Amino acid sequence: MTDVLAIGEHRRGELRDVSYELVTAGRQLADATGGELHLAVISGTVDEFGKKLDREGVDAIHTVDEGEEFNHDIYTQTITQLYDELAPKYVLTPNSVNGLDYAPAVANRLGLPIVTDAVDLEADGETLIATREMYGGKVETTTELAGSAVATIRGAEWPAAEGTGDATIEAFEPAIDESQQGSTVTGFEEVGGGDVDIGDADVLVSVGRGIEEEDNIPLIEELADVLGATVSSSRPIVDNGWLPKNRQVGQSGKVVTPDVYIAIGISGAVQHVAGMKGSDTIVAINTDPNAPIMDIADYAIHDDLFDVVPALIEELSE
Ligand SMILES: Cc1cc2nc3c(=O)[nH]c(=O)nc-3n(C[C@H](O)[C@H](O)[C@H](O)COP(=O)(O)OP(=O)(O)OC[C@H]3O[C@@H](n4cnc5c(N)ncnc54)[C@H](O)[C@@H]3O)c2cc1C
Repeated sequence: MTDVLAIGEHRRGELRDVSYELVTAGRQLADATGGELHLAVISGTVDEFGKKLDREGVDAIHTVDEGEEFNHDIYTQTITQLYDELAPKYVLTPNSVNGLDYAPAVANRLGLPIVTDAVDLEADGETLIATREMYGGKVETTTELAGSAVATIRGAEWPAAEGTGDATIEAFEPAIDESQQGSTVTGFEEVGGGDVDIGDADVLVSVGRGIEEEDNIPLIEELADVLGATVSSSRPIVDNGWLPKNRQVGQSGKVVTPDVYIAIGISGAVQHVAGMKGSDTIVAINTDPNAPIMDIADYAIHDDLFDVVPALIEELSE
């Protein structure tokens, strides 16, 4: 019992980034246990997903052609049966809405301990040591789990696996007991704001309470336009209804890792930083030189946004 089984995630026909991050996290653990890394991808176009997931470091991929979208009962029954067949030491899933739906049920059925929202995982002999953040990232805790365990990992904490692998890709056919199926996905409803996914943007222009009022938001949109960037925000902007919820970066919003993150009039509260600290280059524009965002910025512009942003637009539009 040394292998690691990681469960890929997809939504509406697309594999989600965390699937590739799971490959990295799973490979690290498998190296520590001296085992193999197995992936499972359940429901949807699994053959296509299986090929995409064949990145460096993956030993085997199990494709499960059951259903189209996520279903709690299919996932729970399938993973339980895969566990019985493969006897992995660790089962890894994303700490997503779906992952948090099925991972506890899997752990419960298998009688395994579970740790959720891990930002780091280490295997030390028979112990799995998971690091978690609490109080919005102010405190780090470690949790030790003995023996075999289930862990859900936070998105954007591990780099996405690259390269092409040579994993064996095999279909796995679970025996789904339909009498145990208590839930069905009946449809999707987009959160307001259309289908913009700030997680896909290379450059984000992010606006905070320093913008003062809703009528000033177009200034930020104009800067985003000239940069070919996407607009995101801190939570108060969304709470005020000035931008839709799918634009919110942070602990209770989205975790983003763009090439460039421009924080305009954002103080850098821990709950916000939790969502953008993985950005490659951080630019902050703030009148307060002591705002926490200035400490983590690669370029800290200590000035009034109402002077800096129009000047940037003018300069970049030329
Ligand atoms: C459980 C929980 C979850 C949360 N989740 C999130 C989350 O997901 N995302 C999130 O963002 N927050 C979240 N928050 C809220 C968070 O704690 C902060 O309140 C919030 O991030 C502050 O937003 P802000 O930086 O826009 O505003 P403020 O903290 O008010 O900062 C405004 C900044 O603008 C600067 N400023 C003012 N005028 C100008 C000017 N003219 N030019 C330049 N700079 C100027 C000020 O110096 C200040 O630094 C959460 C809080 C809790 C308790």
